[in-house]
Amino acid sequence: MSDISEQAAWTPDSWKAKPIKQDVVYDNPEELSTVLARITNMPPLVSATEVDRLRAQLKDVAEGHAFLLQGGDCAESFDYCNPTAIEDKLKVLLQMSLVLLWGLRQPIVRIARMAGQYAKPRSSPFETVDGKQIMSYRGDNVNSIDPAARRPDPQRLMSAYLHSAATVNYVRMLLSAGFADLHRPEAWDLGHVRNPSIRREYQTIVNRLTDSLGFMDVIGATGQTAVSTVDLYTSHEALLLDYEQALTRPVAKASQTQARRGTYEPATPPRNRLAPELCDFYNMSAHFIWIGDRTRQLDGAHVEYFRGVRNPVGVKVGPTMDAAELVRALGILDPLLEPGRVTLITRYGADKIAKYLPAHIEAVLATKHQPVWCCDPCHGNTTTAPSGHKTRSFDAIISEITDSISIHQQLGSRLGGVHLELTGEHVTECTGGSMELSHLDLPSNYQTFCDPRLNYEQSLDIAFKIAKVFEA
Ligand code: PEP
Ligand code: MN
Repeated sequence: MSDISEQAAWTPDSWKAKPIKQDVVYDNPEELSTVLARITNMPPLVSATEVDRLRAQLKDVAEGHAFLLQGGDCAESFDYCNPTAIEDKLKVLLQMSLVLLWGLRQPIVRIARMAGQYAKPRSSPFETVDGKQIMSYRGDNVNSIDPAARRPDPQRLMSAYLHSAATVNYVRMLLSAGFADLHRPEAWDLGHVRNPSIRREYQTIVNRLTDSLGFMDVIGATGQTAVSTVDLYTSHEALLLDYEQALTRPVAKASQTQARRGTYEPATPPRNRLAPELCDFYNMSAHFIWIGDRTRQLDGAHVEYFRGVRNPVGVKVGPTMDAAELVRALGILDPLLEPGRVTLITRYGADKIAKYLPAHIEAVLATKHQPVWCCDPCHGNTTTAPSGHKTRSFDAIISEITDSISIHQQLGSRLGGVHLELTGEHVTECTGGSMELSHLDLPSNYQTFCDPRLNYEQSLDIAFKIAKVFEA
């Protein structure tokens, strides 16, 4: 399966012939078809031009010239589509990227787990609430967190599209209005950070940067765009393939200018006038999509869908991934050997990384593939606190990141990025960090619907720690 010529033809729905994991079964298939047909006719949420730009930037990461910061909620809720939550998320990602930029002296590629991170794979399809077995919460695009409304509702797919559109629209609006302009304070002020040492270190970076910018402004060296805005890309786990297919759009290969203008031909026959062999297919629901650890079977539906889209794609890699299987996955997903086409998002756990990562790196180094290696220090480090809250310790997260950096260095590879579950709000879901949250603090502001997220301060803490490890 390592060569594209050995594979059957790909179409946006060829995944349907493959076994699928974590599928959602609707009891009203006609309504589902109607909703999907409507989404198929909706405008794309991102353009091929933007996706191409991200692909080029991830190539830089894979080649060691840039660093990837990917972060956001575990399960995005429709309620998070409000100005404050979006601004806070954007702000924490921008501030972290500034710290990383300063420490690493490299461009930072920012990808938010946002504007579509709704669907969740679950370890069990059912749970027991008040002695009754009900379907598990599968994400806002499937059912409700409310135990009384767990039946999968196809209308939620349209709602997901509309909430993604509103979120992405607000992010674009903020950025074009200068939210990320280093000359303006809103996004760069530390707001409610209480820890004095973080405040001090961060303020030093901002002061030095604004000083340099002031100097460059005086000598006329700053082009407006270089410091007035940034790229921010969207991403989610592409779990619900019916939805992803509805937003998969052909772009004529022959006319790259058409792709650059972000135009496309609708994907659904009979309006599809483009012969498939003359098209590239883009997933236009997000710039970057990834396959979860539970759905990455080589002969499964998700890998089949992912191999055909032009977007850069991620694959979660955990302890159950065999090294030979990893190489085969790269063969299927990156047949053209494009640096940065695949991001391997490794998530073993602080106590397991030393056992599994070296074999994975060595197996990949023996091939011609050049993926981005990205460390997800969250998903292998989830524990249950005595109070019953799902949590993660800051120390375990840092330990997995620092081990990842050094294992890569020892083997002649390089950690290219981090993938974090975080929020810009002051939640109490993970323990530790400079504010030293303990298990006892968890109930005070525990809000997540799924996995525990780093709060605003803990996220900045992580950025400083990573910057220091790279500086050392
Ligand atoms: C996630 O990223 O929220 C997730 C479910 O991760 P994984 O697929 O690595 O378990
Ligand atoms: Mn998660």
